Amino acid sequence: MIGGGQLARMTHQAAIALGQTLRVLATDPDESAAQVTPDVVLGSHTDLDALRRAAAGATVVTFDHEHVPTEILEQLQSEGVNVAPPPQALVHAQDKLLMRRRLEALGAPVPRYAAIESVADIEAFARRIDGPVVIKTVRGGYDGKGVVMADDPAQAREVVGRYLAEGVPVLAEERVAMRRELAALVARSPFGQGAAWPVVETVQRDGVCVEVLAPAPGLSDELGSAASELGLRLASELGVVGVLAVELFETVDGQLLVNELAMRPHNSGHWTMDGAVTSQFEQHLRAVLDYPLGDTAAIAPATVMANVLGAPQTPTMSMDERLHHLFARLPEAKVHLYGKGERAGRKMGHVNMIGSDVDELRERAVRAAHWLSHAVWTDGWDEHAE
Ligand code: ADP
Repeated sequence: MIGGGQLARMTHQAAIALGQTLRVLATDPDESAAQVTPDVVLGSHTDLDALRRAAAGATVVTFDHEHVPTEILEQLQSEGVNVAPPPQALVHAQDKLLMRRRLEALGAPVPRYAAIESVADIEAFARRIDGPVVIKTVRGGYDGKGVVMADDPAQAREVVGRYLAEGVPVLAEERVAMRRELAALVARSPFGQGAAWPVVETVQRDGVCVEVLAPAPGLSDELGSAASELGLRLASELGVVGVLAVELFETVDGQLLVNELAMRPHNSGHWTMDGAVTSQFEQHLRAVLDYPLGDTAAIAPATVMANVLGAPQTPTMSMDERLHHLFARLPEAKVHLYGKGERAGRKMGHVNMIGSDVDELRERAVRAAHWLSHAVWTDGWDEHAE
């Protein structure tokens, strides 16, 4: 797996049960996955020789991020390396403009958008939309980085002017009036098998996913099936191998629009570790190894995932002690920590709660995650007094 972050760490966890060893290409021995797998290759994901060293003798090469340049992957492929997802598919998760164009050609619903090559282009687009627009870098964005909401045409002009002066390619989109964000998570194997998990609601704060509600509360069967079918169709049309996350907007008038694609295990699928028969990490491995895919059914009526994000001020209480108190109070919490140093806003772990009442699960999952981040109980509980 190229990249040694938490996604590789949790994929390694699943690999163990399948009798596999996940080799990771990490840039630093302290990275989340490099801490736990015995097979670490150190190097950069933009260095062809490092990728060759990581790929040597491997059955298949896959990814925990989308930052490997397409040309390098095509080179590896031409040398006989089995790259999954193949670069011809992966490019749709790397280049937002190419993704928008391809989705449009496939008849998938997308927000109105335009390639922006000059300030005149954004002026024309803003006039056409006659409402707020979003400026996005074509490549390299993640967790809301490279996404700017412009409130008025003057701000849009200013943002575009700045990016273009730096030589950064951008596109613009209408700002979608949405009810909420959804994600359709599916997997596809080279054999052509596809499998879809229940569609979830994702809650974002400042461009970062903070909670996932599985299944999406109150989603009609019709919209849920449409989202799953769209995910499976895109996986097949794009030739995806592995997990595909289709991030969606549910508009205020009940339509679905595709926001973006990720071709790897995804934050919207962390709930599957405890809430589904087959986790997304196991499924990703089954897909890239061309095994039959696993059952994607939920094992409980509801699962809620809350991310543990680094607090603005790192608590003096150690994570170990926080975990101790969490388990004393909420023994049902399923905690996954990534072994990362604490830094404000950093994804350090997540908590899953499974049960039946989504509101109640959500309250507990968020309270647990907040405790792990801040060492503060949001309801004023005193862990020493009680
Ligand atoms: P990233 O690559 O950083 O994940 P996204 O394109 O997914 O960037 O955008 C991050 C967040 O910004 C989305 O989850 C959504 O909340 C918001 N967003 C992105 N595009 C739009 C849009 N066209 N309209 C409204 N909100 C948007």
